Amino acid sequence: MDLVCPICNGMASYVVKCSECGGQMDARGAVQDYFDDYSPYLSQNITKKMDGVENNRCVHIFHCANCREDKEITINEIKM
Ligand SMILES: [Zn+2]
Ligand SMILES: [Zn+2]
Repeated sequence: MDLVCPICNGMASYVVKCSECGGQMDARGAVQDYFDDYSPYLSQNITKKMDGVENNRCVHIFHCANCREDKEITINEIKM
């Protein structure tokens, strides 16, 4: 049995509301897919975090176009 992220596999979508403006945030993909474009300080942050993160979690980035805020949401992977 494999653990997979339901969002990466298109099995579910996750709606995140911006805590500032209440608007719907855009899904930007998983951190590992997004890594290259990210600012150096945040990559460092994520790298540290990923070291401590268990394998059955997938961290996704959501972005608010209004506030230009990014938010990380940790998704629990599910058994297939
Ligand atoms: Zn994922
Ligand atoms: Zn916002």
